[in-house]
Amino acid sequence: MTGSTLMSLVTALMSLWGFPLGQAYMFVDLSHVQNMTTLYWPGVPTFNRTIVAAGTSANGIWIEVGAFSSGEHGGTHIDVPRHFIENGMDLKDFPLERTVAEGVVIDCSAEAERNADYAVTKEKIEQWEEKHGRIPNEAAVLFRFGYAKKFWEPEKYLNTQQLDDATTYHFPSVSLEAVKWLVKSRNLKMIGMDVPSPDPPTDLTYPVHRLVLPLNIMIMENVNIVPSLPPRNFRLHAAPIRIENGTGVQTRIYAMLYERMNDGSPRLSSPLFVSFVVCLSLVSAVVKIISQ
Ligand SMILES: [Zn+2]
Repeated sequence: MTGSTLMSLVTALMSLWGFPLGQAYMFVDLSHVQNMTTLYWPGVPTFNRTIVAAGTSANGIWIEVGAFSSGEHGGTHIDVPRHFIENGMDLKDFPLERTVAEGVVIDCSAEAERNADYAVTKEKIEQWEEKHGRIPNEAAVLFRFGYAKKFWEPEKYLNTQQLDDATTYHFPSVSLEAVKWLVKSRNLKMIGMDVPSPDPPTDLTYPVHRLVLPLNIMIMENVNIVPSLPPRNFRLHAAPIRIENGTGVQTRIYAMLYERMNDGSPRLSSPLFVSFVVCLSLVSAVVKIISQ
C-alpha cells in the first residue's frame, strides 16, 4: 500500500468518526477578566496584582514577574465541596473528570428581565427540553439570565445601591426543586450561571450549594455566558488550579463548539457502516496494488 493510499484511508476513516480534520473547534471564552475592579462578595479580599520585577536584565533580555492575591470566590470562579462541608474535598483532590462535560444553556433572560428575583422552575427546564431535546446525562447545565453584560456595573448586576450590604442584593437564581430534578433525573455533573450564586441572595441557608456540593457537583459562578453560546452541542471545560485546602478559585471557563454538528453535516458513526467502509477501502487498496 502506498503512503498516499494509506493516508487517504486514514483520512476517510477519521472523518467518518467525526474527527475535525483540518477544521478547528470554535472556542468560546466564558470568563470575565480578573483585575482590581472585578466583583467580589463583601468582606472577601478583592483581586490585587503588583509587579515584583520588570526591566531589562544585564544581557538585554526583558523580564517581568508579577504577584497577585485575592479571595477564593470572586469574578468567574468555581466552588468545590469544601466550601460548605467542614474538611470536605478541596481543590487539590477535586477529580479532573468532574471539570469537563457536555454543555447546555437554558436561557431564562426573558424571565429575569421581568423579575430580578426570578427562580428557575422544573417546568422551565421541561419546556427547554421540549424545544431542544433531552438534557444529556452528566451534563454541565448553564443558566443564562442575561446578567453577564451587567457584570462591570455592580449596582445593576446586584440590583442595589448598597454594594457593601449583601442583604440588599437581588438577582435571579435556580430553585431547589429544579436542581433536585436535574440531579435525580439527569445525573447533573456541573451547574453554572451568569450571576454570583445559584441561591437567591436573601436565602442564607444556601439550599442549592448544600444539595450539590456534597455530591461533587461543581458550581460555576459569575460565568460570562455570552449570547453567542448555542443552547447545546458544545463541551464545557472548567479545570481549577490545585490549591491545598482550597474551597473555590477563579477559573478559565470555556466552551468548545461541535461545529460539524451545528452546521447540520451528518455524523456517520455507526460501527456497522464504518466497518463496511474499512473493508471496502482495504479491498480497493489491495486490488490497486495487485493491478500495478
Ligand atoms: Zn463561590
